[in-house]
Amino acid sequence: MQLSSEELHKALKKYFGFDTFKGNQEEIIQDLISGKDVFVLMPTGGGKSLCYQLPALLMEGTAIVVSPLIALMKNQVDAIRGFIENRDGIAHFLNSSLNKAQTNEVKEDLLKGVTKLLYMAPESLTKEDNIDFLKQIHISFFAIDEAHCISEWGHDFRPEYRRIRPIVDEIGNVPIIALTATATPKVREDIKRNLKMDEAKVFISSFNRPNLYYEVRDKSNPKRDIIKYIKDNPGKSGIIYCLSRKKVEEISELLNINGIKALPYHAGLDAATRAHNQDAFLTQEVDVIVATIAFGMGIDKPDVRFVIHYDIPKSLEGYYQETGRAGRDGNEGECICFYSYKDIQKLEKFMQGKPVSEQEIGKQLLQETVAYAESNQCRRKILLNYFGEDYPQENCGMCDNCLHPKKQFDGMEDMLYVIELINSMKENFKGEQLANILGGVSNALIKSYNQNKLELFGIGRDKGVRHWNAVIRQGLVLHMLDKDIERYGLISVTPAGNAFYKRPHKLMLTEDRDFVDGEDDDDDEESSMENRKLPGTGGGGNDELLAILKGIRSDMSRKLSLPPWIIFSDPSLEDMTILYPITLVELKNCQGVGEGKARKYGQPFVNVISKYVEENGIQRPSDFVMRSAPNKSSNKIFIIQSIDRRIPFEEIANSRDMDIDELLDEIESIVSSGTHLNIDYCIRQNIDEDKIDDIYSYFKEEASSDSLSDAMKELGPDYTEEEIRLVRIKFLSEVGN
Ligand code: ADP
Ligand code: MG
Repeated sequence: MQLSSEELHKALKKYFGFDTFKGNQEEIIQDLISGKDVFVLMPTGGGKSLCYQLPALLMEGTAIVVSPLIALMKNQVDAIRGFIENRDGIAHFLNSSLNKAQTNEVKEDLLKGVTKLLYMAPESLTKEDNIDFLKQIHISFFAIDEAHCISEWGHDFRPEYRRIRPIVDEIGNVPIIALTATATPKVREDIKRNLKMDEAKVFISSFNRPNLYYEVRDKSNPKRDIIKYIKDNPGKSGIIYCLSRKKVEEISELLNINGIKALPYHAGLDAATRAHNQDAFLTQEVDVIVATIAFGMGIDKPDVRFVIHYDIPKSLEGYYQETGRAGRDGNEGECICFYSYKDIQKLEKFMQGKPVSEQEIGKQLLQETVAYAESNQCRRKILLNYFGEDYPQENCGMCDNCLHPKKQFDGMEDMLYVIELINSMKENFKGEQLANILGGVSNALIKSYNQNKLELFGIGRDKGVRHWNAVIRQGLVLHMLDKDIERYGLISVTPAGNAFYKRPHKLMLTEDRDFVDGEDDDDDEESSMENRKLPGTGGGGNDELLAILKGIRSDMSRKLSLPPWIIFSDPSLEDMTILYPITLVELKNCQGVGEGKARKYGQPFVNVISKYVEENGIQRPSDFVMRSAPNKSSNKIFIIQSIDRRIPFEEIANSRDMDIDELLDEIESIVSSGTHLNIDYCIRQNIDEDKIDDIYSYFKEEASSDSLSDAMKELGPDYTEEEIRLVRIKFLSEVGN
């Protein structure tokens, strides 16, 4: 079939009401209707659907559209029916959600030849009787939407996608159009190979989304950061992605408690709730949807103003797709990702137990995300490079790294070392291993290759492995090095790299960013005092104010003859220098400060902070107060009530299915968050009066912290761990709260 541009434009206007084609649409459509295979790479929102919908309407027969999500099919069919009035049979879908009668109705329309578009899930396409049926009708072409599902290297691999080609061959010799919004060069190859589309013309639109802003943040206090961000951007629509359903529920609840209209979305909710929550988001009834990655595919909400990743995504493909949902109307779209290396370790743990090849792929994809997060290079450059596209500008002006450029260094010599090392070895190795060699890390792997004997081993020890990793990654982006994804990411030198080696020149590179280990906030409420981490290290507090507060604390400590740490711990003081509380109520937002402590010791501190804020014109963190969710483990409330009623500890533990250790953990956590508990009834029953006094005065007079292991060492074997813990609880509760 052949149509002039004029005729195509007419059809576009007639069926869809648009005056012009977007991007490559017209050429794509021309190729398809003339019987060629086409491969379309277009970012989300680029207008892929029209590339097969319009040809389907124009060509003879029915176009089969393979699409992975049953839920989306109905939307698509409704949409096309909406464009074309009074012709309900024009588009149908065939999948497992239809009953017998509905299926027959669809088949009738197909046999009658009124249906131009038939959407099918890959599972339905591969069914024997459907194949037989399709052989009876005239098919115009096959459209494979979300074609990246063919590849294991994509982020949602669907094995059934791999069976499409043989079936198409069986049904008849018709053209194929494959479409995807996310495909790295590797995934692209997979798609072409699997669909046997070597001859196909490839249409690549730029993946750059110039209106999106990218930022990676330290995950040291993500909840507070998110609430502050949303409060600073009132009324804007946004998506927050979390990895687990539990986290989704928790964050959604937390937002609501803080006066932000939000709803959760994940696969664990029933279909009606999911549909309701999605609608509420689309219709702006709520501002924020907190979701797992189950949310978003096919959602066309043009005015999403921010996409926040609470957890690091598993791959950059997924990340780009998810962030792509921001700013589809071309206006503001901020993409913020929280990162801590702990999350990476968690994700790696999840992969254990999966087949080795899958683990290998998963780890490599994850490694790319780490590289992205830790890099100080332009984020846009890295992302586009990942999709095989070069971003020419030096500074994109729309990412954290370009807005706050880090110091660069001349990496000429370092890059030469990397190239020399790779070329000096017979085999190729992964980036990590190369970095370890240059950084002089002698692990088992390196020894097994005798690489610790190499001349270049440890040549850059003083710079550290992190530095070498950064150099290698930038070598990749600059195309001096190449990574063979298929073979475990082995690194080789490109001709450009060798040319540089022959004629070296100045080469400005950036160091990677150093991230603070985030709080392990999954168990922050549960952790016992002993395990409590000290956040705030390097966490942007005010050192001058901290020194002043420490001064007040030592005065007070002398006056009350109490150890300073019992008044306020260091992390509490550090938090004060970040939050600048000026009332006792606000003071309680600082970590480790409960009602009791605030009342007993807080006043002089808030007085000084208040004065300091005024004198120095400090901008307090938008004067917001983050409220925490009421403790979900109703355990704590139960325990507090039971202790008030003097119930024996064994009984409390039994009725909650805990052992005594777990109960003590809970009690310690209650006390450390500032609640006063009187456990004398239990202590007096279990411990001698003398021992109680000894332990108590140890904490009061000798201890330099509340450390349990120190106490056990000091007090010696006459005191059991449990005794020390009990008295420590008494002490902390009486003196602290
Ligand atoms: P994709 O599948 O690439 O993510 P869609 O096919 O869903 O994108 O299209 C995104 C949006 O662009 C839709 O709202 C669609 O109606 C619109 N669109 C597509 N083609 C055109 C065009 N030629 N002119 C105007 N709008 C278009
Ligand atoms: Mg689409």
